[in-house]
Amino acid sequence: MTGILTGKRILLTGVLMESSIAFHAARLAQEQGAEIILTAFPRPSLTEMAAKRLPRPDDVKVLELDVTDVAQLDGLAEAVRAELGGLDGVVHSIGFAPQDALGGNFLNTSFESVATAMHVSAFSLKSLTTACLPVMREGGSVVGLTFDARYAWPQYDWMGPAKAALEATSRYLARDLGKQNIRCNLIAAGPIRSMAAKSIPGFTELAEVWNNRSPLEWDVTDPGPAGRGVVALLSDWFPKTTGEIVHVDGGLHAVGA
Ligand code: NAD
Repeated sequence: MTGILTGKRILLTGVLMESSIAFHAARLAQEQGAEIILTAFPRPSLTEMAAKRLPRPDDVKVLELDVTDVAQLDGLAEAVRAELGGLDGVVHSIGFAPQDALGGNFLNTSFESVATAMHVSAFSLKSLTTACLPVMREGGSVVGLTFDARYAWPQYDWMGPAKAALEATSRYLARDLGKQNIRCNLIAAGPIRSMAAKSIPGFTELAEVWNNRSPLEWDVTDPGPAGRGVVALLSDWFPKTTGEIVHVDGGLHAVGA
């Protein structure tokens, strides 16, 4: 079978459950011919369980990776080299903010919590990318997930500035990796009912508003479209696109009231 990722080796972070956007990116990547390796946080068991539901579960290796752990990041390239020989793509599908950084507490959040949100959700795009760089092939693609950071959303609080930092980080990575012909792009997904989303108080209300306003119908229970966007950006079909943010949000970003 040939697909748009045939012959490509892809590392995906963020496969926690079947509701994870990265799970669907991994599923579609396998369907499109890629060899994949998953990283797991907080422990491998959940990711290993989810991996059993992928089209070719026996071909999936799971590595433990806390993206804030320097020792684990330092060992990542060698672990990947031993498993796959090298990489053609990396998916950053990681977000976290402490509870006091979400849910309408914006004016009172401690800097410690903001720093954690920034470290895990934004700086990690740089850390993960540079950790993988020694094994990244020329022509490779890095893809991350954002929630459109141009707007102040209800309840999203410090995840908003963290996503703004992620978006800027992606542009700077695009700037610095272009010489090696490595691209860095983001998918701005609409709301999906994943574990990360459930930790945001008021997420349900936001999700309801979405489908009332988006030009295309939006289904919060379907991470498939965002996964497709990730796979498209990993493929050779966007060879001259970098530093870009592609909206997979039913078109809501394009309309006003
Ligand atoms: P999810 O809960 O399935 O995935 C979040 C992932 O982040 C988990 O796999 C978790 O293990 C990982 N993670 C958290 N801390 C980590 C750490 N220290 N090291 C390594 N991994 C860590 O939820 P999801 O919705 O699939 O989220 C994936 C990405 O998509 C996130 O960046 C999220 O912000 C983004 N996103 C989500 C939505 C949505 O509505 N669900 C919308 C737009 C963008």
